[in-house]
Amino acid sequence: MNYVVLSRGDRFSNELTEQFHRLAADRGFIRNDKKPDTVISIGGDGTLLHAFHTYLERINEIAFVGVHTGHLGFYADWKANELEELVRMMAENEPKLVHYPLAQIELDTPEGITGYLALNEFTLKGVDGTLVVQVNINDEPFETFRGDGMVISTPTGSTAYNKSLNGAVIHPSMASLQLAEIASINNRVYRTLGTSVILPQHHHCDLISKKDQRLLLTIDHLSIQRSDIRSIRCSVADSKVTFARYRPFPFWNRVRDAFIDMNDCDNGPGARS
Ligand code: NAP
Repeated sequence: MNYVVLSRGDRFSNELTEQFHRLAADRGFIRNDKKPDTVISIGGDGTLLHAFHTYLERINEIAFVGVHTGHLGFYADWKANELEELVRMMAENEPKLVHYPLAQIELDTPEGITGYLALNEFTLKGVDGTLVVQVNINDEPFETFRGDGMVISTPTGSTAYNKSLNGAVIHPSMASLQLAEIASINNRVYRTLGTSVILPQHHHCDLISKKDQRLLLTIDHLSIQRSDIRSIRCSVADSKVTFARYRPFPFWNRVRDAFIDMNDCDNGPGARS
């Protein structure tokens, strides 16, 4: 086992990191910061995003394991008090490797085309005023968007920013992209569908800048500000991210545990009082 640990950096996550190293050394695991096979993220889903971007160049060679120092997350599915069990299972069991889709964009500027990958989503916003973009789907004009911004998310990112915008939660086995609007202005000139749109793997969309505008592009937790973006092509990436699962934790259970209070269900319609 060739591994690295990335901590959120708070005291508790750092203590758990030291504990993991001790347990791992007892099992003969090898620490390898440069070329790990397994990347352990200790913190939260946000920490996993950082880990993903830190090891992006080796994305086809590595598997991630997430430990959450608070509640269970979407990427972080081991709890802080389960570290011993996790290390034991890593030493004694072969994991099930699950592969989740990523989103890719190709940014067209006067400098050329630059590609980026996202685990959760890309967002595009205007810096000085509203964002104005023409949205083409499969090279055909679809709508002209004016508003606060657009969010293009992966299935695993559908429970993050996308969900705050009333986007649908998508099972990660469905390789797809979801475009969600942030506060669109609708009138005779600018008219959008008003709901999120889900594209399958073999489709793509382009966001074409329709005015001189400074744009803020975010890639998960990272951000770039530019005034020379001509267009952005969005599609499902060829690469996937791999998670090592040592025990089952079905996606819909994660969704339920994160967003639905089971106590409410017990007292919901049909419940006996
Ligand atoms: P942050 O603002 O510190 O945290 C954002 C929150 O999103 C955290 O609670 C994080 O969980 C949670 N999260 C991250 N990925 C998730 C996922 N796939 N499903 C469900 N929840 C998820 O920022 P950050 O930690 O650097 O994370 C960046 C992410 O923040 C972006 O990718 C975006 O999705 C999200 N965001 C959301 C909104 C919004 O909903 N209005 C606005 C901006 C950004 P943990 O506590 O476990 O880390």
